[in-house]
Amino acid sequence: MTSTTLLPPRGRLNREQESEDRTEEEVYELAVSAANGKRLTPEEALALYEQADLHLLGRAATKRKAVVKDDRYATYVIDRNVSYTNACNAYCTFCAFYRPPGDKDVWVWDIDTILKKVDELVEIGGTQVMLQGGLNPDLRLDYYETVFRAIKDRHPHVALHSLTATEVDFLARQEDTSHRAIIEALRKAGWDSLPGGGAEILVERVRKKVSPLKNTGQVWQDVHSLCHSLGIRTTATMTYGHMETNAERIEHLRIVRDMQDKAIEADTGGSFTAMIPWSMAPSGTKLEGRIEVATGQEYLRTQAICRLFLDNVDNLQAGWLTNGPKLAQLALDFGANDFGGILMEEQVVSATGLKPELSIGEIVSYIEQTGRIAAQRDTYYTHLKVHG
Ligand code: SF4
Repeated sequence: MTSTTLLPPRGRLNREQESEDRTEEEVYELAVSAANGKRLTPEEALALYEQADLHLLGRAATKRKAVVKDDRYATYVIDRNVSYTNACNAYCTFCAFYRPPGDKDVWVWDIDTILKKVDELVEIGGTQVMLQGGLNPDLRLDYYETVFRAIKDRHPHVALHSLTATEVDFLARQEDTSHRAIIEALRKAGWDSLPGGGAEILVERVRKKVSPLKNTGQVWQDVHSLCHSLGIRTTATMTYGHMETNAERIEHLRIVRDMQDKAIEADTGGSFTAMIPWSMAPSGTKLEGRIEVATGQEYLRTQAICRLFLDNVDNLQAGWLTNGPKLAQLALDFGANDFGGILMEEQVVSATGLKPELSIGEIVSYIEQTGRIAAQRDTYYTHLKVHG
């Protein structure tokens, strides 16, 4: 075994340790074997997450990334968030975006307003629309069908990477029908793929505390698995840094990995295209002042453990949204291969006071400053334009 003097200095996660203490050599060997493709158990992942030196984690994640992605490139997508309504009756504690139904500040956008926004996206070369909003009891399935059809009629090449499992479940209850019936109706109207929003942490103890009126984690899993079985691509997210433990973050990743195993085995063409972890931004929410905000180190550790533990999900987003683009640059050396989107007119996170919007030039520049080639991608991570 290597002399301990040659091992990197130990840097632990700055939160209460839940994993059994391992020696430096054991942690080092674990990182090396994960980098070489060993499938980590949840216990091993937790030990690495909590006990590995930060730089060791970064090197392991970068080595692992190079097996599945070409690290000369980092990708981004030109997308627009279309927050069609802010009325919501779920009252999640971590959300600064919603207004109760009936509130004077509630909005619902009509088709013309939405089409104008999509036109503007297309004018700058955009390819993806994320139509997402609150759970508005005044909106029925026909609103979504009409909006989706209108967008596709005018811009057939724009991908509707839209709604969330929460909205699909809400619509099914509104219409007194099944998830499958809603998904099939939306698909007929032009819907392409399902973003991972609403996953938060897929552990009921946590969900009961932060979003008791929202769908359960099992519903999120059911809707995504159903999409996969129907050949529809989806993404997985994890919003961390509120009331969950380290082990619960790993449990969330285990659920995603197991779902992806099943999707790959079923071979329908439906699966998770990417994992998108981001830290909770509490300002303006009911959690402000009540939680310890996730640190930059936690962000990088989380990126790395996603890359090492999720050995069956090819793409990992740097998630500059709540951590800022400069930290996201570092994430490219901690397993991430994608910078995410420019998020034109993002409204959900901006309600917390952050200003999450980058120009195309800025995102390309942030990528190039890391020594990588920036590539514009589509919703399915295919390169559309390589810069430089
Ligand atoms: S996170 Fe979504 S479901 Fe929860 S309150 Fe906000 S808009 Fe509603």
